[in-house]
Amino acid sequence: MATSAPSPGSAATELTLPALHASHAGSWLCGPEGSVRGVSKGEAVMAAADTPHLILNAPLVSTRLGYPDLSGLDLLELFAFVHPAVFCVPTPKGLAHALGLEEPEDGAGVPHLLRQAAAVLLTTCESKDWAAREGAWSILQTMKRLRWPWAQVLSPHVAKPERAEKWLFSRLPEWEESPERAQPAQVALGEVAIQGQLERLTGEGSEKREGQRAYARDVGAIFAPRERRARPHVLLAQAGTGIGKTLGYLAPASLWSEQSGGTVWVSTYTKNLQRQLRSEAARAWPDRRADGSRPVVVRKGRENYLCLLNLEDALQGGFGGRAAVLAQLVARWAAYSQDGDMIGGDLPGWLGTLFRARAIKSLTDQRGECIYAGCPHYRKCFIERAARASAQADLVIANHALVMVNAARGRDHAQRPTRIVFDEGHHVFDAADSTFAAALTGQEAIELKRWILGPERGSKGRRRGLAARLADVASYDEAGSEAIDAACEAAQALPGEGWLGRLAENAPSGEIETLLAAVRALTYARDESGALDAGYGIETEAAGLEGDFVERAQAAAQALAQIRGPLIKLGVRLEAMLEDPPDWLDAQGRARIEGARFSLSWRIDTLAAWEALLGRLGGPADPQFVDWLSVERNDTREFDIGLHRRFLDPMKPFANVVLEPSHGVMLTSATLTDRGEEGPDWPGAIAKSGASHIEVQPRLADALSPFDYAARAEVLIVTDVKKGDLAGLAGAFARIIEASQGGVLGLFTAIRRLRAVHGRIADRLAREGLPLYAQHVDPIDTGTLVDIFRDDPRASLLGTDALRDGVDVPGHSLRCVVMEQVPWPKPSILHRARRAAGGGGAYDDQIIRGRLAQAFGRLIRSKDDSGHFICLSPAFPSRLLTAFPPGVPVIRLTLDEALQRVAAGVSCKPALHEEDVAK
Ligand code: SF4
Repeated sequence: MATSAPSPGSAATELTLPALHASHAGSWLCGPEGSVRGVSKGEAVMAAADTPHLILNAPLVSTRLGYPDLSGLDLLELFAFVHPAVFCVPTPKGLAHALGLEEPEDGAGVPHLLRQAAAVLLTTCESKDWAAREGAWSILQTMKRLRWPWAQVLSPHVAKPERAEKWLFSRLPEWEESPERAQPAQVALGEVAIQGQLERLTGEGSEKREGQRAYARDVGAIFAPRERRARPHVLLAQAGTGIGKTLGYLAPASLWSEQSGGTVWVSTYTKNLQRQLRSEAARAWPDRRADGSRPVVVRKGRENYLCLLNLEDALQGGFGGRAAVLAQLVARWAAYSQDGDMIGGDLPGWLGTLFRARAIKSLTDQRGECIYAGCPHYRKCFIERAARASAQADLVIANHALVMVNAARGRDHAQRPTRIVFDEGHHVFDAADSTFAAALTGQEAIELKRWILGPERGSKGRRRGLAARLADVASYDEAGSEAIDAACEAAQALPGEGWLGRLAENAPSGEIETLLAAVRALTYARDESGALDAGYGIETEAAGLEGDFVERAQAAAQALAQIRGPLIKLGVRLEAMLEDPPDWLDAQGRARIEGARFSLSWRIDTLAAWEALLGRLGGPADPQFVDWLSVERNDTREFDIGLHRRFLDPMKPFANVVLEPSHGVMLTSATLTDRGEEGPDWPGAIAKSGASHIEVQPRLADALSPFDYAARAEVLIVTDVKKGDLAGLAGAFARIIEASQGGVLGLFTAIRRLRAVHGRIADRLAREGLPLYAQHVDPIDTGTLVDIFRDDPRASLLGTDALRDGVDVPGHSLRCVVMEQVPWPKPSILHRARRAAGGGGAYDDQIIRGRLAQAFGRLIRSKDDSGHFICLSPAFPSRLLTAFPPGVPVIRLTLDEALQRVAAGVSCKPALHEEDVAK
């Protein structure tokens, strides 16, 4: 493929291929000779359908052109091949930065950038210094057979290696077994030592921050030796943004792990904080110890990691068409990945969306079908490596759900966390709520059936059912073999492929489908939420059930018990084999049986929870639980049906499973307490920590933010955008983004309104050079959307809940947060029960203030940040204003007045109206 001399205005060599770029502002084509012209969408589509063009992010360009089948030579795919496991923001600007090229001035400059970027990437492949050369030639040969559009272009640039390349699976290193760690020494941390460690971490001569010092001292107390069994030290520490919270707890944590030889777990809610923690932890620990092991390990749920067995299946014909190309690119990545984490690790978030994200999921171990030591890749498995590394680590960085799951059913005692810092502690309640939930739905039941019986006929891959996974046990142990047969037979009662269709036709098969059919009929009969007509999910409480329904539930419970019985028997047989092992059982076989026993006990627990849920139906309500029936729908399409059970207070099981066995636990957050009229609500925070369920009185600490919120932020409540006026809402968003010249984070409570607003204003804003991105609209994952937003100060981003909590964009890129309305809680059946138990309207107010405080928290991330927080709600209740930091001016005003203030920035603050000030 020829490269051409630089075109006018560009400095780099270009590839002489046609290029296409489309944004909300317009479409541009560059011919092979290098001339660029603006074209209509129709002309762009015709050109791309005729000849493969260079494009960037095909799904996004397709959306912009309104032409779903667009294909071409996507620069992102080439980037993933040439630079696997390297970060790149998937925009023209991001690509330019990643490759050291000049960023284009406008849309018309993008086609040249694409030609330059292609030339740079191809030249890299010819360079001796290409870091990712190994494996490239071999994979390229397969990619040619798969007709990957880039294969022919790349071929002349990737030289055949002199020696045969190592295949991915032989290239990956093996993990090594290490001895179990001894229990930690009982040490108490002295205040002087903690302050000394804090100074060491913050750096010699750095400014001493009193708030941070007091915070570190308070945290030190959770590491003190425990006085009584099942009575951990619990600390609730509210830490205002900017006090230096992370180093504040890493100082005592690192000191304790050094002196005691134990492991501290830090649990977060967002991946963002995990990334930040990983870099801050480098101040306390080296990357590697003298023996090569890592003292700091990021640990995620197993469903995040690449399963090498699944990848091998995909590479050997399990994936066809475009998905087969994706599998090859994932294989490229796996060879260079730091830890094999596919979700939020070093696999670009955009790779899945280029090929439809479901394929990525199917490469992970979603269903717990791991065959452990029976797997040929067991010794190289990323998941096993991460589990072993965390057992030896001083600091394990994990998320709330994983910490809770590990505490509940960690594979061995040594891996259960005992000293835990829950950062972003205001999310612990929600994480506990999901972790300790039970849901007997069609999708869950079908997963269990697959786990027991293996995939149904016709499906590709090497996944196996219980009988195949434990064939050696079955041939050795007759009772074990009978238990497996009995479980397989009983599992026929679970739903199978096509169950949703059968339910729709009222032709269910088996006891569980029969029950689900009744759930579906009853939910349609009783739901009054209004969601039915709107196309959303519907639900009804599990109360007032007719005899016929209860009989079906009992039959289903019996069917489940008939599965659980043999699984328990099988577990006993496995246990016996481990205690009195046969001669042929080597270490690998033992590990496999231990793995099987572990996943068995998980399934047995699930079945027991389902039976308990069904057993209560028709009887008196248990005040500990909230039970309901649901039909999950999206745009009227049903995708799951089932029965649900939640704890009214999920902190009760949290206290028993997580707190009680621990020695020291801290919950910390900038918004740990609700702020009502009377100031911080500590009794509420204590109740929400679960500590009272185990009769522990937590220590309390409150470190105020050093930021001058009163001078650097304003809350504007716009009073003249009427509720329900979609055109008015869209117009308001557009004008605010124009006044602010981008940098706006728009938060919605309904996806439908978000889409409608985006659809009305995105083109207009793009023509003014103000790109607008949106969750649920752009085919880009949320993490990448935030990367794009952070990277471009003129960009704005619209989204829902995930953005309210997870966006950390300090600096100029985020200067205005706009909420479309007061974030009322969704009036679900679960919410109604908790509201009744929690004080009615006061309970709602707490939730809303928490959400407002979180959303406001996105605005000021560093001491130099400033900006506006706008709520487009004429009826914003004054009692919610305490959500904002004390002293921040709160102004009720018209949209026109708000625009003037946004355009002027926060330093210009004469009150236009009577000002409230947050108390
Ligand atoms: S050990 Fe399990 S998770 Fe790991 S590669 Fe093998 S099957 Fe997959």
